[in-house]
Amino acid sequence: MDFDFEELYQAVILDHSRKPRNFGALPDATVTVSGDNPTCGDEIALSLKIDAAADKLEAVGFTGSACSICMASTSLMTTKIKGKTRGEAETLLRDFQGMITGQMPESETPKSLGDLRLLSGVRKFPQRVKCATLGWHALKGCLAESGEGKFSVGTGDADL
Ligand code: ZN
Repeated sequence: MDFDFEELYQAVILDHSRKPRNFGALPDATVTVSGDNPTCGDEIALSLKIDAAADKLEAVGFTGSACSICMASTSLMTTKIKGKTRGEAETLLRDFQGMITGQMPESETPKSLGDLRLLSGVRKFPQRVKCATLGWHALKGCLAESGEGKFSVGTGDADL
């Protein structure tokens, strides 16, 4: 297969920023965490509906307005975590953070990240890293807030 990485990146980012998946409020959400990135103007709120008994992220939704990198990263994230367990979502979160911050060598980026791997080039632009990780910070907040006995993220607008 002979594809141009740059072209694929553009196509996927454009597609997800124009038609974000799982975009919209979740009326029966278990937890909602919002975050903003003032340097760019990104604002999103992520909601999860968690089936505690089945340990499953039953539904995911997000709202807000953000730049294309933030929208695409959050949209791709929702497609990856929907239907997953909390543990699987946490692994994905760790893998993505490792990739986007450059803490994980590019060659070790897990295939499980799928199209999210297209965002790996963002690590060269610290300002854009904030855009790409905003949705993931909200996910982290949601998981913390909904965790058993953990309500430390209370206000939802802490230092995300
Ligand atoms: Zn942004």
